[in-house]
Amino acid sequence: MDSSRSLASTRSGAAFYAWLRARWTARPTLHSDVALALIASLTWAVLYNLQFWHQAISTMWHPTPGAALFLISLFVLVVCVQALLLALVPTRLGLRIATSALFVVAALGSYFANAYGAVMNQDMMRNVIETDPAEVGGLMNFDLLAHVVLLGAIPAILVWRIRLPSSTWRIRLRQRLVFIGSALALCAVALFACSSNYAVFFREHKPVRYALSPAAPLVSMTGVLSARERDPHAPLINVAGNVQRMTAVGRKPLVLFLIVGETARAADFQLGGYSRPTNPRLEGVPGLVYFDHATSCGTSTAISVPCMFSHLPRAQFNVDQADRYTNLLDSLQRAGLTVEWRDNNAGCKGVCARVVETSYPGESDAVHCPNSYCYDEVMLSDLPARLDALEHDTVVVFHAIGSHGPAYSERYPPQFETFKPACRSNELQRCSKEEIVNAYDNSIAYTDYILSRQIALLQARADRFDSVLLYASDHGESLGEQGIYLHGMPYGFAPRVQKEVPMLFWASPGYVERTGLSMGCMRAHAHDAVSHDNVYHTVLGAMAVRDAVYDPAMDLFAGCRADPSQLSHSTPSLQDPIAFVANQRLK
Ligand SMILES: [Zn+2]
Repeated sequence: MDSSRSLASTRSGAAFYAWLRARWTARPTLHSDVALALIASLTWAVLYNLQFWHQAISTMWHPTPGAALFLISLFVLVVCVQALLLALVPTRLGLRIATSALFVVAALGSYFANAYGAVMNQDMMRNVIETDPAEVGGLMNFDLLAHVVLLGAIPAILVWRIRLPSSTWRIRLRQRLVFIGSALALCAVALFACSSNYAVFFREHKPVRYALSPAAPLVSMTGVLSARERDPHAPLINVAGNVQRMTAVGRKPLVLFLIVGETARAADFQLGGYSRPTNPRLEGVPGLVYFDHATSCGTSTAISVPCMFSHLPRAQFNVDQADRYTNLLDSLQRAGLTVEWRDNNAGCKGVCARVVETSYPGESDAVHCPNSYCYDEVMLSDLPARLDALEHDTVVVFHAIGSHGPAYSERYPPQFETFKPACRSNELQRCSKEEIVNAYDNSIAYTDYILSRQIALLQARADRFDSVLLYASDHGESLGEQGIYLHGMPYGFAPRVQKEVPMLFWASPGYVERTGLSMGCMRAHAHDAVSHDNVYHTVLGAMAVRDAVYDPAMDLFAGCRADPSQLSHSTPSLQDPIAFVANQRLK
């Protein structure tokens, strides 16, 4: 009895195996390599580019035959160009590798374009390269995984299942050359037939093409990587020349806190006129000035952070060259100041390469670090002791996680949830606009708390040192306006909320007195248009450091302070209210 049952089960097992094997060996067949390239490209154009077509249609559609013809020609062009990219991969093995890899790229691209309106330009690819596990963790969710498996992994496996005829390399080469020739001709016809529409499309609606998957991420990534490969061992260029220090003899040490904020937008700062109480603690702090017309250098961390520390203004700044030049921190350090970088974000983007760095993400601190990133307060935990031991002029940079999305609710401890209900998901499309804004505003209010604590720590030591604090967010954020979320759009096309950032400074009474800073003058300039371009010069000026590229016209304090350079060669006296002396010349 038992043996017959086991025989039956063995038979059914064998039948199932045979069935599975038959399914597995029944592989789809295509006529040629070119057919594989065309089918892959057609699939991408139809299934992976909803956002691209949505944008193309909404920007270019008019009820005219010309517009209809343009959209048809655009479809032909997209299919031809992406198939051409594949047809240029030399071997059949290479073609399979490229096609399957690009299915995964296209799946990721289409997810981020659909979910967040993300733009696959070079800045975004730079962010992809410079991301860390915590940032990836913050984006991970079921939708994303399902998207990658269904539209990425499964088609990628299918590419390897497709049977292609064995033909000689001559035949394959001829097929490809014929295809490349005809595709190019077809593209030319499509472009020529609707040339005026294309002129408008390429010139006025540039961001649309950054939504095209997988071509846009592929081309952008190639651009970033080729820029990086250029001259990797190029020597560091010292732009600072002679660094000079105007020191205040016989006075207390000077301390500057420079806080690099994350993803805070000016539109949600109460200090700048926002109607909700997002700055309850900073409101009314004496000695604080808020700049309400400040703009960022970029719309992403990877651009803005190196730019803020560069001597070059935004118009001349090139992120691929930034590592080659000395920056603000180098000049401060060469002037003899103690410089340290505290990072509760995804690293300093090369800026802190030559100064002491403390990195917080990944630290096992149950109170401050329950999520993928720590709360910004983690950077303050050992700060009182550090300040109590401080003896020299010091600059501390805090690289905050601030309002980094999409998981805004993970940026602040639960007791800081004042605006409710707050979105608790990283899938923003599942939350209402109100819930998203609530979570975001809670993170701004938490930043308000952190800044007020930093000021309090400095204030409490007014007898030991004079201090100043400068805060600027790296870029702003879109919270669903026009269907756009997060940040990173090309600067020229980015909405204002991604470029208008909060920027503020605070000075201790001792600092104000010592430098002859007129707070009335500062407040009068608080409505001027300022930007990240001012950071380099303002910090040098505030710490009485001068280098070859220091420009007083860019120093936000210079016009409101007694000019130390006029005193640099005079003999200091105790009656002198400013008492700057000069010229500690460094190598
Ligand atoms: Zn950022």
